[in-house]
Amino acid sequence: MNQQYWEKELETLSQVDLQILQYERLKKTLRFASQSMYYKKLFAEKKINPDGFKSIKDIEKIPFTTKEDLRSNFPYGFLAAEKREVIRLHSSSGTTGNPTVVYHSKHDIDSWANLVARSLFAVGTRDTDVFQNISGYGLFTGGLGFQYGAERLGALTIPAGAGNSKRQIKLMRDYGTTVIHTIPSYVMHLVDFFREMNLDPRTDTDLRHMVIGAEPHTEETRQRIQAMMGIKAYNSYGLSEMNGPGVAFECEYQNGMHLWEDAFYAEIIDPVTLQHVPEGEIGELVLTSLDRQAMPILRYRTRDLTRFLPGSCPCGRTHRRIDRMKGRSDDMFIIRGCNVFPMQIEKVLMQIPEVGNNYMIQLETIDGVDEMIIEVEVLDGNFLDNYSKLEKLSKIITNEVKNEVLVTPKVKLVQPNHFPPCEGKALRVKDNRKQY
Ligand code: ADP
Ligand code: ZN
Repeated sequence: MNQQYWEKELETLSQVDLQILQYERLKKTLRFASQSMYYKKLFAEKKINPDGFKSIKDIEKIPFTTKEDLRSNFPYGFLAAEKREVIRLHSSSGTTGNPTVVYHSKHDIDSWANLVARSLFAVGTRDTDVFQNISGYGLFTGGLGFQYGAERLGALTIPAGAGNSKRQIKLMRDYGTTVIHTIPSYVMHLVDFFREMNLDPRTDTDLRHMVIGAEPHTEETRQRIQAMMGIKAYNSYGLSEMNGPGVAFECEYQNGMHLWEDAFYAEIIDPVTLQHVPEGEIGELVLTSLDRQAMPILRYRTRDLTRFLPGSCPCGRTHRRIDRMKGRSDDMFIIRGCNVFPMQIEKVLMQIPEVGNNYMIQLETIDGVDEMIIEVEVLDGNFLDNYSKLEKLSKIITNEVKNEVLVTPKVKLVQPNHFPPCEGKALRVKDNRKQY
């Protein structure tokens, strides 16, 4: 097959050449970083001399940067450029606390747009496509990040924004949308609206493929989305601290996400010992921006858990691939001594055909005992009238969840659409347990 690339030379650099490029870019990045109050002080304290760096591996001399560091140096502690050079700021959605802010220069916005264009190209999006960006605009990076990237690619880009499903479907049909980008939890709601409007996304739209990202989801969820929409759904990973979308992206082979290593240096560490994990093992992803001027971030602990995938990709891109996120290290909850990731439960649920598209995990203390209650939508509302079928499904879910996480849940089956669509990322766990 004659493989096409957005930037062939960069995307197919050998690992050795990539490391040389990373080293060159790291030196520049350190020069910029040392202009910020935070890194200037840190380099002085730790006696770090960027001129003494001999290879990209020397990056390990630099301490990790955490979300807390960003927060406690809010708002300008990490700014590495003059105000007149800064043209935009974004901040994270604050899922896990106060937001953090990231500043961008003209160069930064330009290089980010290029990474998103490269990513979209890798999944087959072209300048002839109509790209509908179903994503919150404003401070959230999924809006403008994809807008600029898709425009850079040359696609006709519809800044549709989040929510308002009927309007989204109308836009798709009016303009013949061929590619959409959205968060995976929203697709589940969108499909219900198609049904309500007596339309089938597989036959009543011109969609060719879609991009899903910004929140953890399982392979089983992706399979469902693809079946319901009748198109391939490609995984997209990013975080505001590293621009936003365009950090790692699947190619058309859907076998893990190529992490754009010319723009980011990636390490995977054990979140407890902070040492590198052996190649191929799961750990916390640590990223360094290599092509950002206004606010470089060095060795940022993303709290996202993943691993490098072995082997090369048939697409010919040489940038290493990371696995689908297992979740965030701070997503994990402990109940009755067992460590549970919400994605383990989602995986089980999405494999059961009678289970609907949404769920919620509630942790409660009942009579002094901690309980995990899983509310699960059923696929077909009529199901709820049939007591024996219902009993059977509850049992299946209970047993399979127990096998996966070693905790017996209480399962509560609810109507389809029981959970209203949320504006942003889906909330999967509510912890109402008593704190002793
Ligand atoms: P917040 O941390 O407030 O949610 P962001 O909007 O920057 O702020 O979200 C970035 C986070 O979203 C990532 O660190 C990761 O946890 C999650 N995320 C983004 N893309 C994906 C993806 N494809 N799969 C799983 N998680 C993702
Ligand atoms: Zn590939």
